Amino acid sequence: MEGPAINIAWCKGCGICVAFCPRKALHLVGEKCTVDPVRCVLCGLCELYCPDLAITVDPEAVKRRTSEKSGKSGSSGTAAPPGRPGKSGKADHPGKETRHGL
Ligand code: SF4
Ligand code: SF4
Repeated sequence: MEGPAINIAWCKGCGICVAFCPRKALHLVGEKCTVDPVRCVLCGLCELYCPDLAITVDPEAVKRRTSEKSGKSGSSGTAAPPGRPGKSGKADHPGKETRHGL
C-alpha cells in the first residue's frame, strides 16, 4: 500500500489535510502530519488542499492502485509477447539484410 509523500519540513501542522481526508488516513503527530497508507485511497484531496504544498500524491502510485483494482492480472501493462522483436529477422531490418548479403 502506498500513500502520499509528506514533506515534513514543509508541514506546518495546520490539520487542513486531516479535516479533508475522506478516509481518515491522515493524523497529526505533534505538529506534523502522518499518513496511514492502508487507509489512503490516493484521492489527492490532501495534496489539493495543503496550503504549504507539503503533500504529493505520486501519479504512478495512483495508476498502480487503479490497475490493482480494475485489472487483476497484467498490472505491469508491459506484457509484450516474449522474444517478439527480431525473431523473424526478414523484412523488418533491411539494413541488416544488406550486411548479411555482403
Ligand atoms: S495541510 Fe499540509 S501543512 Fe497542514 S497539516 Fe496537512 S501536510 Fe501539514
Ligand atoms: S490521498 Fe486522499 S485518502 Fe489519501 S491521505 Fe490524502 S486525502 Fe486521504
